Amino acid sequence: MPPASSRFSIQLTMPFHTCPVCGKRHEVHPVLDRLSYGNQLTCSPHCKITFTRLVRTRTLGEVQERKKFLRLRQEEN
Ligand SMILES: [Zn+2]
Repeated sequence: MPPASSRFSIQLTMPFHTCPVCGKRHEVHPVLDRLSYGNQLTCSPHCKITFTRLVRTRTLGEVQERKKFLRLRQEEN
């Protein structure tokens, strides 16, 4: 009779995600995997913070680029 913990791991196959920050392959809880809607989850709280910062920087960068583009167009006309 195997211990309860190993029986649990046999029944639940943990899906693997690739961390979008450090590229590490890591197990994700099936519930979290379903909640992520196909997005790759980060492997650790540290990577999660980094990822949030990356997304924010990218979004702000796109806004800045858009503003620059619109300003250039206004100057042309
Ligand atoms: Zn990571």
